Amino acid sequence: MESAEIRRRWLRFFEERGHHAVPSASLIADDPTLLLVPAGMVPFKPYFLGEAAPPWKRAASVQKCVRTPDIEEVGKTTRHGTFFQMCGNFSFGDYFKEGAIKLAWELMTTPQDQGGYGLEPERLWVTVYEEDPEAERIWREVVDFPAERIQRLGKEENYWDMGVPGPCGPCSEISYDRGPAFGPEGGPAVNDERYVELWNLVFMQYERGPGEGKDYPILGDLPQQNIDTGLGLERLAMVLQGVQNMFEVDTSRAVIDKATELTGVAYGDAEETDVSLRVVSDHIRTSVMLIGDGVTPGNEGRGYVLRRIMRRAIRNMRILGSTGPVVQDLLDVVIKTMGQQYPELISDRKRIETVALAEEAAFLKTLKAGTNILDTAVTETRAAGGTVLPGDKAFLLHDTWGFPIDLTLEMAAEQGLSVDEAGFRRLMQEQRERAKADAKAKKTGHADLSAYREIADSSGPTDFTGYTDTEGETS
Ligand code: ATP
Ligand code: MG
Ligand code: MG
Ligand code: MG
Repeated sequence: MESAEIRRRWLRFFEERGHHAVPSASLIADDPTLLLVPAGMVPFKPYFLGEAAPPWKRAASVQKCVRTPDIEEVGKTTRHGTFFQMCGNFSFGDYFKEGAIKLAWELMTTPQDQGGYGLEPERLWVTVYEEDPEAERIWREVVDFPAERIQRLGKEENYWDMGVPGPCGPCSEISYDRGPAFGPEGGPAVNDERYVELWNLVFMQYERGPGEGKDYPILGDLPQQNIDTGLGLERLAMVLQGVQNMFEVDTSRAVIDKATELTGVAYGDAEETDVSLRVVSDHIRTSVMLIGDGVTPGNEGRGYVLRRIMRRAIRNMRILGSTGPVVQDLLDVVIKTMGQQYPELISDRKRIETVALAEEAAFLKTLKAGTNILDTAVTETRAAGGTVLPGDKAFLLHDTWGFPIDLTLEMAAEQGLSVDEAGFRRLMQEQRERAKADAKAKKTGHADLSAYREIADSSGPTDFTGYTDTEGETS
């Protein structure tokens, strides 16, 4: 079943059951606490928080999502992309646990010729929160789900909140057993690659107080109980298309194929090059979707997320052997495969290309200049018997050659070295203080203005801490 059909069936199924189909919102969240949308519930947050009255009791959507915290997993696990689409159904004070569980079960197991996804019930596993006997009872008694494939998990896995006082509640998740080729048995609690998590049902039930992590008091029941669910479209596509990896589904595989064509490296040759090919496929797609929603590369916030992701894609292409520009060819494939569901990519193609190609050109220039410096520093470090690249080298690369610290870390790691990050940060801090002192002197008229300009111009990209700090996973 093609991705487009999975999406159509999702919306049709829920529309037929009284849900309002809501188009995907932009990846740029209309929410100061989030850089990018990491889950389908984000556009509905005001309804869940009681800040606005929902225009409908039930809604369904297929939402574009970006999760930058998953960046290190991309290509290494079979199921984490930085971009993916989350299918969701939502109830605002309407149906609750029993309704949500019954709907999920029906859609998953109804045969394909009757409008469902037709998954074999025997392959499905369920997890519930260990202190939610109600959900477990519904699975067993209402759905008749076998007790031996229900697992109880703790707060870390199966309890949802938004990191701040407000709504919270238990979850129940549905996983799919991909069989012994993916490792030992034992259910999703012990092997999350074999038993791949497909769908998370969140039961917003309680009001929580302040506290760190999952350590907070429950203040009482919410005035209104809500349902928020999220199913990864690419993960379901992976299962329904019988491929091993979310990057091999219809919408992503074509990008891998283009990358193999451009580099001459075949997919399936070796794990290391396969990871790079999957990273390229994921990151180019994420880049196109971000630019499509109006993000432009920069040194802070969303702009830096995009810059880092695009640069990683380009660097992985070079690791695979490409020498010239690659973005145009790869981007064409993404627009072709994603344009069917997101026609704005086609109508906005010129602008997307202009932004992407300018970033590639700038990065290739940076790389050319900085790589020699880095290689020399690596050789010197090794010759001196060291394994840690000195902080002043990382600073020089950043300050003079525009190498973000992430890039230096990654490129050093490829050569088996770590980086003295503390030393790097100290030098960055010193530079900031110098600039501040100069600015103050400038204000009081005691400094030569031209000297100050030089420092400001060369101070390079600012430090970026935003995306690990502000982007939670909210579904
Ligand atoms: P995992 O445990 O596999 O990292 P999760 O528990 O973080 O997933 P949820 O926050 O529950 O995921 O999101 C709901 C659904 O969205 C998941 O069940 C999964 O199908 C999908 N999903 C989550 N993260 C990703 C990702 N990085 N790439 C693709 N799909 C994802
Ligand atoms: Mg996760
Ligand atoms: Mg999970
Ligand atoms: Mg989950």
